Amino acid sequence: MDEPRRVILLGATGSIGESTLRILRAHPDKLQLVGVAASSSAAELAAIVREFGVPHAALTNDEAANSAVRDGLFPPECELHCGEAGLTSIATVPEADMVLVAVVGTAALQPTLAAIEAGRDIVLASKEILVLGGAFVMEAARRAGVRLLPADSEHNAIFQCLEGHPERHLDKLILTASGGRFRDRDPATLGEVTPEEATDHPNWSMGPKITVDSATMANKGLELIEARWLFDLPADRLEVVLHRQSIVHSFVQYVDGSILGQLCPPSMTFAIQHCLLHPERAPGVDETLDFSQALTLDFAPVPAGRYPCLDLAYEALRSGPVAMAVFNAANEVAVADFLARKIGFLEIPKVIRRVLEQCGDRFADSLGDLLGIDGEARRLAR
Ligand code: NAD
Ligand code: MG
Repeated sequence: MDEPRRVILLGATGSIGESTLRILRAHPDKLQLVGVAASSSAAELAAIVREFGVPHAALTNDEAANSAVRDGLFPPECELHCGEAGLTSIATVPEADMVLVAVVGTAALQPTLAAIEAGRDIVLASKEILVLGGAFVMEAARRAGVRLLPADSEHNAIFQCLEGHPERHLDKLILTASGGRFRDRDPATLGEVTPEEATDHPNWSMGPKITVDSATMANKGLELIEARWLFDLPADRLEVVLHRQSIVHSFVQYVDGSILGQLCPPSMTFAIQHCLLHPERAPGVDETLDFSQALTLDFAPVPAGRYPCLDLAYEALRSGPVAMAVFNAANEVAVADFLARKIGFLEIPKVIRRVLEQCGDRFADSLGDLLGIDGEARRLAR
């Protein structure tokens, strides 16, 4: 039998991290955890290290890292990588085969590029990384000859539906969207919604940022941009359809009109496990669909004007890589401010629009330029 794949998990204490640990527990013969990283949840991270006997851990928050060292929180046989640089150092340790990136936002962009250059396969949950630096990440992966496996459920569905089909047969990609928490709410009342309401998703259990993104549908916008980089298609060949049940995770339409979709219940374990074991398959950790029970699936067009963040994402997609990066930066700041009760829900698209107007048409031909614009967009958004 093959040796188990050695996995580094960045974002181990989050929602994707938790789903990944369930898969690792179920398949110890196939997958071995050799590194885990989080920002500041030291006790939680140390518990994972003890449970799985992990030799490397990283805490990017300096204070959290210092007190973990002071209190001897981690077993002596575990090497602790501290601070922001610790994320790159753990992502490139020699004894790993793949790095699963599940850090919210763009903090793992440079560590991911470093892992690619070190020859590691990447399982990508953090969509923001591609939205900011897609051209550079895709080019680095091509150059290094490593695999970039999409764990975001829509992109994983598309990846599965594309396998074995030549590119020339592909017509378009159709991403499914649940419509988020407020899909049935009177739009006139959206100004009053609270962070508690916006972080409660009807179908999925996820981290707070992505759940708010889902309610504004900025998430689907980020995913359109992610799809643009992963599958190299322009805006007019990327569509979105509302699908309340989150059972069909996306569709691929071929030139002859045939449409393929991938189905499973709304749990991220299906997509994550598909990536971790690819091209192998093994029993899943969650029950799948059961057609002995009645199941109804609905599809509907996205109502025009209802989701301004999605419209802005399409504009950014048509405009180019700088606008895409600016869209992401402004959205991250606006969502953080909404969660901190500094702005209302309806102000999120307004912030994005104004920042896009002010710096969405700059020029960048290096990653350094792009990161500079990202920083400026964040300052403007604030
Ligand atoms: P989360 O908020 O639940 O967890 C985030 C994780 O990242 C935590 O472990 C946290 O400690 C870590 N982290 C945060 N900032 C960090 C930093 N600067 N350095 C190192 N670690 C840091 O988020 P989540 O819902 O698990 O989402 C993670 C990523 O996966 C996001 O990019 C999200 O868009 C993407 N994603 C999530 C889901 C989902 O179902 N949750 C689905 C698809 C894609
Ligand atoms: Mg998704």
